[in-house]
Amino acid sequence: MLEDKNKNQAKTPLSSLGEFGLINHLTQYFTLVQPSTVKGVGDDAAVLNYEDKQVVVSTDFLIEGVHFDLAYVPLKHLGYKAVVVNLSDIYAMNAEARQITVSLAVSNRFPLEAIEELYAGIQLACDYYKVDLIGGDTTSSTKGLLISVTAIGAADKKDLVYRNGAKKNDLIVVSGDIGAAYMGLQVLEREKQVFQANPQAQPELDQYTYLVQRQLKPEARKDIVSLLKELKVQPTSMIDISDGLSSELIHLCTQSKVGCNVYENKIPLDPQMISTCEEFNVDSTTLALSGGEDYELLFTIDTGDYLKIKGNPHLTVIGHMTEENEGMHLVTRGNQKVALTAQGWNALLKS
Ligand code: ADP
Ligand code: MG
Repeated sequence: MLEDKNKNQAKTPLSSLGEFGLINHLTQYFTLVQPSTVKGVGDDAAVLNYEDKQVVVSTDFLIEGVHFDLAYVPLKHLGYKAVVVNLSDIYAMNAEARQITVSLAVSNRFPLEAIEELYAGIQLACDYYKVDLIGGDTTSSTKGLLISVTAIGAADKKDLVYRNGAKKNDLIVVSGDIGAAYMGLQVLEREKQVFQANPQAQPELDQYTYLVQRQLKPEARKDIVSLLKELKVQPTSMIDISDGLSSELIHLCTQSKVGCNVYENKIPLDPQMISTCEEFNVDSTTLALSGGEDYELLFTIDTGDYLKIKGNPHLTVIGHMTEENEGMHLVTRGNQKVALTAQGWNALLKS
């Protein structure tokens, strides 16, 4: 977990700094580490030099009340996560992440100290993933907090991996384990309700640390991109798991014009995720398929590359691609074929 700064009582109104004062204040301790950053914050635009690389760009919006709830998400974690989810998209192209921009709309409900916390999380992510903050925009909002991060990265043309390159018989591989972040959200939602009913109640999260960490402080799999390079494995297609395994599989299959068989008993689950599913009386496979926010990488490889990844503790083969007309299926433990559906992770809550 990220440690929160001592909650000092100071509450400096943002208006006391003015827009430029605020930008200066927030960005003053960021240093530039990427050789491709020619000019960062401070001019009308940033300047980048990518020489002969292909440039990859990805943006996400995070809206208070839609994508995060400040009742249980500390601002420092939010800043960290806002960066990570964007870097994950860059790594999903098999590219290196190099720069980010951060745009904020803030209501006057937030004092300077709150935005400092947010930027402490952003800076932690920049340091960890070695990306430069090179710009953004700052404005006011009538209500709530909105954050948009844009991530910029680079790759050699031959290394880029798209969603549409999978072929029949390719093996489907997933990094890490899945479903834990969604269970973490369920645990936090439950604690929030307990707290609302009884503000004196102390949250009991000890047995859920992994799940809560996966929800509040996800990591992007930069290490898997490096690992694949070391193993000399070029995935045929790749995507990051933000909306749930099932939905991402459907993206790969549809764009690659193939079908798939994924085996229920191969899906990598953490023991804490399994035991908490039992406690919440939900099916762990359903959760793994539809949960989301795992930020693991899902990719396909040629069967000829199998021996290169076999036995690697970070990678699990969960199935294979088939002919398009065979459809997209989960093969259950009972050997039944069930069609995959793209149930978004929000849909789960309502069902
Ligand atoms: P402009 O008026 O040309 O849009 P701004 O005053 O908004 O310029 O921004 C000045 C500089 O500060 C620019 O380099 C911009 O990219 C950067 N910047 C603005 N807001 C942020 C932010 N929230 N985080 C990081 N950099 C920012
Ligand atoms: Mg501006």
